[in-house]
Amino acid sequence: MTLNRHLLPDEFDLLLDGESGFGVQQLTEHLKACDDCRVELDGLRAFVLDIETLPELTPMVGFADRVMHEVHVFEPWHVALRTTATQWLPATAGGRVAAGAALTGAATLATGGAAWAWAQRESSVFVGGVVADQARSTVIAGAASAVDALTGPMTSGLSFGLPLLAIAGGALLASGGLGYLGLKAAAARAQRLQR
Ligand SMILES: [Zn+2]
Repeated sequence: MTLNRHLLPDEFDLLLDGESGFGVQQLTEHLKACDDCRVELDGLRAFVLDIETLPELTPMVGFADRVMHEVHVFEPWHVALRTTATQWLPATAGGRVAAGAALTGAATLATGGAAWAWAQRESSVFVGGVVADQARSTVIAGAASAVDALTGPMTSGLSFGLPLLAIAGGALLASGGLGYLGLKAAAARAQRLQR
């Protein structure tokens, strides 16, 4: 089988690397018949030899630093977020576990409270005036004003329990992740110390 076209760049590479095999034979067959490709291959061979005989130079001291100083690295938002988050994390593994545990506890309480408030609100909507528990409505009103203070006009007109539930749930997830990372780091440290 003969090629009815000239050689492609990667086929020249194969020949320069001295490859042999099933595909190479038709390339060499083409070379025998095609002056253009033979001239090009000779030129490439001379070029490779030139590169191999170039003297090796050591860059000036600080060359990489000077180049990188001029390079403006684009930082994606998730990398920036992680960098910022890392600065806020406690430095030690033990501190991370403690912070994660504290946040998890607080978020669990907040989630439970929000879920409870949401359930109470539902029952007060459906049962209406039948449920006249003064203490409970005081608690609900307190929770509602607290959420209004926290979230402002965003939630006005919306039901108050659900946004609070979402915020608390998100905090629970985040703190759980933090606690997990802390535990992982602590486990890795313990493993290192054992060795
Ligand atoms: Zn050719």
